[in-house]
Amino acid sequence: MQNSKNIIIGAGISGLSCAAELKDCIVFEKESSVGGLSRTFKFKGLSFDIGGHRFVAHNPETERLFRKIVGKSVLKVKRKSRIYRKGKFINYPLEIGIIFDFNPLETFSAFITYLYRKLKPLKGQSFMHKATNRFGDYLYNEFFKDYTQKVWGLDCKDISEELVNTRLQNVSMIRVIKYALFKKGLVKSFASTFLYPDQGIAVLPNSLSQGLDIRLNSDITGLVCAGNKVTKIVVNNAQEYPCDKLVSTMPITELVNLLNAPQEVKNSAVKLKYRDLICVFLKLKKPHFSESHWIYFPGKQMFGRLHEPKNWSPEMSNGEQTGICLEIFCHRYDDIWKAEDEEIANRVINDLPLLNASEVDDFCVLRITNAYPVYDLDYRRNFKKVSDFISSYENLFILGRTGGFKYSNMDVCLEEGHALGKLLKNSLP
Ligand SMILES: Cc1cc2nc3c(=O)[nH]c(=O)nc-3n(C[C@H](O)[C@H](O)[C@H](O)COP(=O)(O)OP(=O)(O)OC[C@H]3O[C@@H](n4cnc5c(N)ncnc54)[C@H](O)[C@@H]3O)c2cc1C
Repeated sequence: MQNSKNIIIGAGISGLSCAAELKDCIVFEKESSVGGLSRTFKFKGLSFDIGGHRFVAHNPETERLFRKIVGKSVLKVKRKSRIYRKGKFINYPLEIGIIFDFNPLETFSAFITYLYRKLKPLKGQSFMHKATNRFGDYLYNEFFKDYTQKVWGLDCKDISEELVNTRLQNVSMIRVIKYALFKKGLVKSFASTFLYPDQGIAVLPNSLSQGLDIRLNSDITGLVCAGNKVTKIVVNNAQEYPCDKLVSTMPITELVNLLNAPQEVKNSAVKLKYRDLICVFLKLKKPHFSESHWIYFPGKQMFGRLHEPKNWSPEMSNGEQTGICLEIFCHRYDDIWKAEDEEIANRVINDLPLLNASEVDDFCVLRITNAYPVYDLDYRRNFKKVSDFISSYENLFILGRTGGFKYSNMDVCLEEGHALGKLLKNSLP
């Protein structure tokens, strides 16, 4: 019989930062590499992340921690994001200069509908209500509605208002005007610079992994419980490991299936959904595609966002050729998920303005499950039911974006992983 150990499920940023603090633990990861959503892939001499991963810390202590972990490889990059709308590029976050891209009728509509909503706000608690009140009907319809629906696969009336704060932070018309006049007032999420490791975001999980006991290709397929404790984990339907404390960063919906949950908890768990993602990486025959880090496509294109890794770090390309990565937000049961790679790539190429098919040298397609926890109108209630049940196990802790069903970025994952690791370390006998 082996001695029981502290066990962490998942070697993403959350699991690894918890393990790095706790030290005395084993990390089980079902994939063949560490990093989870923060991974970097290599394709024929070029590299790309699962959607570019910029690091912006809301807390200076976290930025210091990030710099310490990734060391000399860190680059400070001046952000350039744009929205592709009606054949034109518009800077994002929206700037007051936007009025130069509008015709007089559009400018009038933007200001009138904004003022109108200040006087007569919509009553309701969805993304649609809150974003319309913040920007006015015209800007909301032109810039936020279609893109948001594309990302979440839901009508904006069915999306929680929390996403306005999470995705748009405190950006509002007033702040946009203030920023234009005084160059201050925009929040950190829209910081004009971000940090990025020169070889891609994978530097972060790879560095965090140093010295840790990590078992790759180890899918947690079962849990053995006694009373209100998890006593063993089952790996790949075969080996059992006795566990002391158990931290899970795997999808909460899958974790609950491994426990003997009452039917009402299971009913709530099936209502919690994650949005999946297809990344289409195109290797181009030319050295350069655009100036931008990100380009957002709120229009009819099947993809929502593009990033060009070479603009994040020159090390991501071979110098002569660049690559672009396009994100298709979908569910794993959608037809597009099941389509052949070649069909997906061809559809993306046909849909992409600014590119001739003859400029594409090669492509690769990745399917990423559980990319975004979906904040629908009921998610809080369902999450509470499930997490209350999980917390009835005295040695089981959920953590992270996927594990905690929380729309958090890497800085928060680092902070919360570190904090839980510390707490568990201090509570050890
Ligand atoms: C397209 C996209 C772009 C993003 N861009 C940014 C950005 O620019 N900046 C930023 O800060 N953040 C960004 N993020 C968010 C960032 O990726 C996450 O905050 C972070 O990677 C989450 O880490 P995590 O460890 O909590 O979860 P995950 O990365 O999901 O890790 C969970 C791990 O658990 C493993 N696992 C699952 N089930 C099992 C099982 N049964 N057994 C064993 N292991 C299992 C998974 O394989 C995975 O490795 C982005 C996310 C996406 C999807």
